[in-house]
Amino acid sequence: PLVLGIESSCDETGIGIVRGQTLLANAVASSMDLHAAYGGVIPEIAARAHVEAMVPTLQAALAEADVTLEDVDAIAVTAGPGLNGALMVGVAAAKALALAANKPLYGVNHLVAHVGVAVLEGGSLPDRLGALLVSGGHTEILRVRSLADDVELLGSTIDDAAGEAYDKVARMLGLGYPGGPVVDRLAAEGNPKAIRYPRGLTLPKFTGTAEEPGPHRHDFSFSGVKTAVSRSLDHFEREGLEVPVADVCASFQTAVADVLTAKAVRACQEHGLDTLLLGGGVAANAGLRRLLAARCQSAGITLRVPPLRLCTDNGAMVAALGAHLVAHGVEPSGLDFATDPSLPVTRVSIPAA
Ligand code: ATP
Ligand code: MG
Ligand code: FE
Repeated sequence: PLVLGIESSCDETGIGIVRGQTLLANAVASSMDLHAAYGGVIPEIAARAHVEAMVPTLQAALAEADVTLEDVDAIAVTAGPGLNGALMVGVAAAKALALAANKPLYGVNHLVAHVGVAVLEGGSLPDRLGALLVSGGHTEILRVRSLADDVELLGSTIDDAAGEAYDKVARMLGLGYPGGPVVDRLAAEGNPKAIRYPRGLTLPKFTGTAEEPGPHRHDFSFSGVKTAVSRSLDHFEREGLEVPVADVCASFQTAVADVLTAKAVRACQEHGLDTLLLGGGVAANAGLRRLLAARCQSAGITLRVPPLRLCTDNGAMVAALGAHLVAHGVEPSGLDFATDPSLPVTRVSIPAA
């Protein structure tokens, strides 16, 4: 099927067009620069930017794919999770298009779309799939039995997202926003063993009862490492020492990559998942990629990392998941569903009313 996907959950306005598992267009406009002065995404500013960028981005995607709205078989849009004001812009636009062009509309889950995008490079996904999603807004480990209707959350952050922790540490070091890329670059020049920062929630959490043990939770916490970085900076200042910025970056990066990879691999082992997919903007991180590749290899897990332009938020991921739903005969959502800022991963798409 030819599917048009609309993404607006955070600071990227994305329109993607796919035919089955083939990518035809992926137009993305980002309001990241507008948030730089604040050190993080400002919801109101993001929503306004979506209103401005939506139609030009749609026109760019249709031109790139060389199709018209008439040619499209279905429209998919991110219904959640995300910033509500931002989500509403995409959902309102998608409903207007679906009504005007008389096309079926699917409201889909942003997190599952981060997984579904992988079919655009390397084809269909295996049945026993784990996913590690790391970005400015999320840090999750998923088990994906079926992209259409069987996704489970194995762990998530209880405080900051991984990318958020990067951005906050970068801010403490005066490195600007977004901080991830700069910290990553400086980390390459530092000693990762210079300072031992805490990993946070290192052990899997037991769930269920003694009689009926449940699956473990593989949750994350980054507030401890953030506080520890702040304390170490205070220490250097108090002692009148120059801050070893590269060493702080390298040590922080090692702590984050260590806990992310250890937990993702452990979750895969617990659930017998032999393929792990990495997604989200933090997938760009060199330290994370290196350690994850090494640990997956020792554990006999196949690692799949889509190209970075598909790892960050975009419309193609929404279109790819939409095409999968159409191909699997899932019912469209109709035109009267609401956005859901905290849509759980178990809800892959919004059922018709
Ligand atoms: P969402 O959470 O909805 O996916 P987002 O806009 O917050 O949206 P992305 O655009 O996917 O997330 O990624 C941006 C985040 O990734 C920022 O927090 C940024 O600091 C981080 N990031 C980008 N490159 C790197 C890198 N090389 N190392 C670490 N973090 C990085
Ligand atoms: Mg973004
Ligand atoms: Fe995302």
